Amino acid sequence: MLDLVASAQNLFPDIVELRRELHRFPERGNHLPKTRQILLEALEGLPLDLKLHETTSGVVAVLPGDPEGRVILLRADMDALPLTEETGLEFASRHDGFMHACGHDLHTAMLVGAARLLSSMREQIPGTVLFMFQPGEEGFAGARFMLEEGLLDTAGRRPSGAFALHVNTWTPTGVLMHRKGAQLASDDRVVITVRGKGGHASAPYLSYDPIPVAAEIVLATQTAITRRINVFDPGVITFASVEAGTTHNVIPETARLEGTIRAISDSTREQLHALLRRIAPGVAAAHGVEAEVEIVRGYPVTVNDPEHTDRVDSVARRVLGDQAVRWLEAPIMGSEDWGYVLQEVPGTMSFLGACPPDRNPLQAPGLHSNRIILDEAAMPYGIALHAAMVLAER
Ligand SMILES: [Zn+2]
Ligand SMILES: [Zn+2]
Repeated sequence: MLDLVASAQNLFPDIVELRRELHRFPERGNHLPKTRQILLEALEGLPLDLKLHETTSGVVAVLPGDPEGRVILLRADMDALPLTEETGLEFASRHDGFMHACGHDLHTAMLVGAARLLSSMREQIPGTVLFMFQPGEEGFAGARFMLEEGLLDTAGRRPSGAFALHVNTWTPTGVLMHRKGAQLASDDRVVITVRGKGGHASAPYLSYDPIPVAAEIVLATQTAITRRINVFDPGVITFASVEAGTTHNVIPETARLEGTIRAISDSTREQLHALLRRIAPGVAAAHGVEAEVEIVRGYPVTVNDPEHTDRVDSVARRVLGDQAVRWLEAPIMGSEDWGYVLQEVPGTMSFLGACPPDRNPLQAPGLHSNRIILDEAAMPYGIALHAAMVLAER
């Protein structure tokens, strides 16, 4: 298995070039024409059946193998973020206002590397490999659209395992982390509108001021979470936007709260929704006004299948060495649309360290920072891990 890292190292110069080309032309959302074009050029000449999705820029590349063998799904996301890059890198973004700040350029390049590596050792592959290149991870549910367009039936049989990597700067290069069960949270959005009655700010008793009610809803929500939610199955509600009023002497008609709801189990997720639907109108009614609650469901909890994750763990220890693989103690409250795929196929997401050696992982700008620099030296490890997960199916 250690040879896989050496083989991946041989691909390194080309993969770095590919990653930098992707980095120069970041695109956001579900339609990534330039990115798809770069990807398709990089896959040219490989023995792959390509399926270009129509509802999004998603691409599924199939490496056909033993028709009796298993189907393994490997995934990379390809989209970028609306940020203005300030890394000073020579290959920095040329698309103003957009940046690959979540490492999806590395993910795509690594998966292309894995496709090249596995294509060169086809006779050793025990089944069929689906390479999933998805757009729209950053809030556009690209994975869900690809599932709806038949992702899992691409090879004629459904995948029996699914694997994805996400790079980060909070661990040194080459360190791999994951956990069994929930690894990332669900992510829903809530908007609460408190409707009062506007008037002169000097005479609140003649109007119904929505602002103190909104403030009380914020605080009551935090109190309720500590009283109603099981501390061993936690949840987070953060109101990150509060809007009301136009000037100092007018009581506005409405106040608006917007926030995020995170949980690591479906039951807490539903409880948090119910709690908001009870508290906001309840607090409002106590003050003679009304509150309307709108919840927009986002990504589900990303749940690593315990058995599959055990397999990833032992494969990774053989590829990277025992000291480089660690169990993640607690889930992370960020979210991923990989969760949609893991609802259908037993699989895993592992976090791959990519902090440059001259930076401190505790202080280095992290994912979604416009100053993030990821260590390209992590890519051969990622390529080797993807390939190893396929070969381990024998
Ligand atoms: Zn991200
Ligand atoms: Zn990401």
